[in-house]
Amino acid sequence: MADILYTYKNSVYANITNKCNCRCTFCIRFQKDGIGSSDTLWHQQNPTKEEVLDAIRNFDFTGFDELVFCGYGEPTCALDILLAAAKTAREEKGLKTRLNTNGLGNEENGRNIIPELSEVIDSVSISLNAPDSAKYQEVTRPQFNDGFEKMIDFATKCRDEIKDVKWSIVDVLPEEDIEKCKELSEKTGVQLRIRHFSKNSQ
Ligand code: SF4
Repeated sequence: MADILYTYKNSVYANITNKCNCRCTFCIRFQKDGIGSSDTLWHQQNPTKEEVLDAIRNFDFTGFDELVFCGYGEPTCALDILLAAAKTAREEKGLKTRLNTNGLGNEENGRNIIPELSEVIDSVSISLNAPDSAKYQEVTRPQFNDGFEKMIDFATKCRDEIKDVKWSIVDVLPEEDIEKCKELSEKTGVQLRIRHFSKNSQ
């Protein structure tokens, strides 16, 4: 059985679902099984809410102050579990919570989920992946039309309601694309984090 919680560097990560509404060309789901302290992140069956809550309640978080929702899947595809798990992490374990997301959670759930997220999530990191709609479509292959525009809308709503929100890109993008991402960040006021490429990137 895949681990629900795993550690990588200084953080604890929650892998709550393998479901996703994208098929990113670079997705680690298609490349290798494990990451950090976990041998495999493929769930034979996606965990239930109770299994996720038990995993959080039984985990020794000594030395860690944040739980990051991430993993081999998109956490907002299991919104009910994400919200309950983040609430438990905050209220019962005194942790900060971060959501790493593709930013398509409003489309996935058919409503604006940010007011619900803002009650239990302290910070959000959204994969920007590309500087424009055409490139975004090519790289992330989302199930939705206008995925890029929807992801931008999600990011700006998070900026207004959650405040601590960042886009992230990896430094393998061409310099010209990185510049365009910086311009988008300046225009929208959503910070941009440029991560150094690593096969274990989170
Ligand atoms: S959004 Fe994340 S989990 Fe989904 S395909 Fe892309 S990289 Fe993989």
